[in-house]
Amino acid sequence: MRTRSDGGEGGKGVEAAGLRLETLAIHAGRAIDEGTGAVALPIHLSTTFERDVDGSYPRRFMYGRNRHPGRAALEEAVALLDGGAAAAAFSSGVAAAGAIFQGLQPGDHVVAPAQGYYGTVNVLDRIFAKWGLQRSFVEFTSLDALRASLTPQTRLVWIETPSNPMLRCVDIAAVTELAHARGIRVVVDNTFASPVVQQPLRLGCDMVTYSTTKYLGGHSDVLGGVVVSRENDDHFEAVRAAQVYGGGVLSPFDCWLLMRSLPTLPHRMRVHCANAQRLAEYLVGHPRVTAVHYPGLPGHATHHVARAQMRGFGGMLSFEVEGGMKAAMALAARLQLFTRATSFGGVESLVEHHASIAGPRSTVPQGLLRLSVGLEHPDDLVADLEQALVAG
Ligand SMILES: *Cc1c(COP(=O)(O)O)cnc(C)c1O
Repeated sequence: MRTRSDGGEGGKGVEAAGLRLETLAIHAGRAIDEGTGAVALPIHLSTTFERDVDGSYPRRFMYGRNRHPGRAALEEAVALLDGGAAAAAFSSGVAAAGAIFQGLQPGDHVVAPAQGYYGTVNVLDRIFAKWGLQRSFVEFTSLDALRASLTPQTRLVWIETPSNPMLRCVDIAAVTELAHARGIRVVVDNTFASPVVQQPLRLGCDMVTYSTTKYLGGHSDVLGGVVVSRENDDHFEAVRAAQVYGGGVLSPFDCWLLMRSLPTLPHRMRVHCANAQRLAEYLVGHPRVTAVHYPGLPGHATHHVARAQMRGFGGMLSFEVEGGMKAAMALAARLQLFTRATSFGGVESLVEHHASIAGPRSTVPQGLLRLSVGLEHPDDLVADLEQALVAG
C-alpha cells in the first residue's frame, strides 16, 4: 500500500493496485503517522510549515490556505474514489460549484438543469450573472432541448442526476458525447448518488462535484464541497486557483471529519439504497399516495437510464399525496422517525416539504414530500409512514 507521504495528487498508485471501493475508502489518503505510529489520522491545526535551510519546502507544505496535510489527504482519497486525477476541497458545496464557474470567462455560456439544486441556480443568477456569465436552464431528459440550447459561446454543460426532488436521471454518457462533439465541457453534480452509486468520470464527463455535506459526510455535522477532475488540465488549474487564491478552503477539522466518514461510505450507501427501495415499494402500493418518484421503481420515467449508469438507486425518494400542501404538511407532522428538516445524506431519516423551500422557479407539486432515507431499520420506517398515512 502506498502511503500519504509518497505525495502527489490523484494517487494513481492505489488505483493501479486494483483495489475495490470498500478498500480504497479505508486506505486512500492515509498512512501510519511516522512520528507516533498513530493508526487514526492526526489533525494538524498548524497554518504554517517549516522551510528547509535553503528556503525550500521539501514536504510541499508552506501555508495552510495553499496546501494542508488534512486537506491533501482528503483530496487524494476522494479523487481515488471517483477515479479522478485530482481533487480540490472547499468550505461548502456551493463554493465548489462557484470555483468551477470561476474557471470560465465572462461571456461564456453555461447550460444547467431547469430542475437543478436551487443553490447552484443562485450561484449562477446572483453571482455569475453580474460577472457576465450567460446561462440557460433546460430539461435535460430531452437531448433535443439540450441541443437547441447550445450556442457558439457554450463552454459548460452542468448535469445533476438524479435530480432534486423528482429523481429524474440524465444519461451522462449521451450528454457528454453530444457536448464533447462541440468541444463543450461536462460537469456532473454527483451529490445525490455519491461515488459509490455512480461514477460519472468513468462515463466520460470532465469533472464531478459534491456537496460533501450530504452522503460523503453522512452525519449531518460537516459542511463542505469537493471538485474532482478527470485530468489535471487548465480548467482544474483554474479551480485550484479559485481555491488557494479565493481562499474558500475546508478547515482541518472538517477535513478530518470527512476522512472519518469515508471508510463507512460504501456500507452506508448500500443500506440507504436498500431502505429507500423498500420504502418506495411500500408507498407505491398505498391508496393515499398518488405518485412515487424513485429511480429504482420499474415504473419511474428514467428507470432505464438509472439501471444503465448507477450501482443501486440511491437513498432519496419523493412521493405525492392528495390534498396539496396542507395534506403533505399534516402528514410530515405525524411522522415520528423522520425529522422535518432540509438537507439529506445523514444516518437519520428526514422529510422535507420541497415546494415551500424551493425557489420561485420551482414547479414542484404542492403535495410532494421528499424523504432522505436513513439507516434505521426499514420495518420501523415503514411502520412510521403507515401510522402517518392511516391517521390522515
Ligand atoms: C446541498 C447541495 C449542494 C450545495 O451544497 P452546500 O454544502 O449546501 O453548499 C449542491 N448540489 C446539490 C445537489 C446539493 O444537494
